Amino acid sequence: MNRRLFITTAIASPLLVQDLLAVEKDIIVSREEWSTFVGLRKRLHRVKKVVGYGNFNIISFDRALYYAKHYAVIGAFPQKELDLADRLFYEDPKKYGFFGDRICDTITHSIAPKAVEKIPYTGHYLFKGKPMEDYFRLKKDIGDEIILTSGVRGVVKQMSLYVDKIYRCKGNISQASFSLAPPGYSYHSCSDFDVGKRGWGHKNFTAKFARTREFRQLRQLDYIDMRYTINNEEGVRYEPWHVKVI
Ligand SMILES: [Zn+2]
Repeated sequence: MNRRLFITTAIASPLLVQDLLAVEKDIIVSREEWSTFVGLRKRLHRVKKVVGYGNFNIISFDRALYYAKHYAVIGAFPQKELDLADRLFYEDPKKYGFFGDRICDTITHSIAPKAVEKIPYTGHYLFKGKPMEDYFRLKKDIGDEIILTSGVRGVVKQMSLYVDKIYRCKGNISQASFSLAPPGYSYHSCSDFDVGKRGWGHKNFTAKFARTREFRQLRQLDYIDMRYTINNEEGVRYEPWHVKVI
């Protein structure tokens, strides 16, 4: 990823100059923090194993702490891991080059089980109301080939995805935040969802999705929009699969 190139391009958009100046050079997890970071990543994976893939999408941080404390296979979060999780959640991501809006104010933000519904055969949830209506309407308009690939994501799920992404980016937080919103900054925590083409697997999360018939049809629909367009002001990569609920 060429973040610098992105920044140069972004100057042409109405981002505030002081915001751009606040972007530091790539921020990397320090050597001292690396083992804590890996510990946090693995513990979140163990929480997922215990609560199940579906539940993991919507559990709160407090629930994760509860399970960690009561299930020996997870093990309680040590203070160092909690401090790191706090930092990843509360830190201003502008310095990483991420300019999206904050969606959840506190790390303990929880999703009311009544507010969401599990979508059969997907392992994912959607918020009741407009998001769910949109999803079933777009399936009716486009056909059964279009599927839900990621729905509601609470703080824990977003934290886990973020930590995984940082890990794959070898500790480079700036690089990771280009392709994934930091926990607390994801619209998956309040409305949006991802769609893909049936049987396409990980290709659904690449620009290739934009070349599908399903994507072209998606763009024709006036009741939804695309959240992360090319060179968006949020500083997020192009995500043709991410549906913005309007
Ligand atoms: Zn998404």
